[in-house]
Amino acid sequence: MAAQILDGKVLSAQIRDKVAERVCALKEQGVNPGLAVILVGNDPASEIYVRNKEKGCAETGILSRTIRMDAETSQEDLEAEIGKLNADPAIHGILVQLPLPAHLDEQAALAKILPEKDVDGFHLVNAGHLMTGTEGVVACTPKGALYMIRSTGTELSGKEAVVIGRSNIVGKPMAMLLLQQNCTVTVCHSRTRNLAEHTRRADILVAAVGKPGFVTADMVKPGAIVIDVGINRVDGKVCGDVDFESVKEKAGWITPVPGGVGKMTIAMLLSNTAEAAERTLSRE
Ligand code: NAD
Repeated sequence: MAAQILDGKVLSAQIRDKVAERVCALKEQGVNPGLAVILVGNDPASEIYVRNKEKGCAETGILSRTIRMDAETSQEDLEAEIGKLNADPAIHGILVQLPLPAHLDEQAALAKILPEKDVDGFHLVNAGHLMTGTEGVVACTPKGALYMIRSTGTELSGKEAVVIGRSNIVGKPMAMLLLQQNCTVTVCHSRTRNLAEHTRRADILVAAVGKPGFVTADMVKPGAIVIDVGINRVDGKVCGDVDFESVKEKAGWITPVPGGVGKMTIAMLLSNTAEAAERTLSRE
């Protein structure tokens, strides 16, 4: 039987609707949530992401500010801009659009963002919170992927989860979130031997590799929840890391690309911004 589709459009709309309600409640209490995005240079893919973020803010009532900086911007100027936003009470969330031009130090820049305004959840403090299971900002893509997994209604405790990819922004935080759900988690990566032996055991399989069609049907357990985080471009068309056509015949649930995890990432960014604004109220 063909898999059920985990529709990112439908699921992200649920989150955006809730964010819009939370934003209304915040405004009634005198807080106008604001998100600032710093875009250095003019990478075409980043331009698209930034436009989508601006659109998401407009839809949910969040104030959006985009700071465009020249591709030649120095580290000092970038960090000075972050410092200004840290000090600006109208801004609750700060996002530095990655990748930065090669001469800039991403980690050093991210470390300058106040952890409570780090709505991407990339700051070491927030990574530490996730690691220790304490309250912090959770990275948007894995948070969105977990929402999709939970939307299946499957009991996650004790399930075998396999994450392919160990990046700091997707693979590792995804593994931590699944561990928090009491899954038995295996993280596979470029040096993993006999990858398919691991993936075939997975009740939940998350692919965050960056290789089109990498996960094929023979690597998937019948009935598995398959989450495709990959965003690849082949002949101008966007596709994921999962060979959707073959895998959908074997999986129980599957996310499409486009229209899957990508939509959730933006919705979770808006949710994290609302959360950051809510925290300012609880601090008063
Ligand atoms: P990355 O390049 O940092 O990490 C890729 C990971 O894949 C690495 O950990 C590597 O060990 C692993 N890998 C590579 N070859 C492998 C192999 N043969 N077998 C097993 N593992 C292998 O990438 P990333 O930033 O984690 O992103 C992964 C994908 O997700 C990319 O396509 C990216 O565009 C996409 N992405 C999507 C969203 C979204 O919103 N949907 C957000 C972030 C990233």
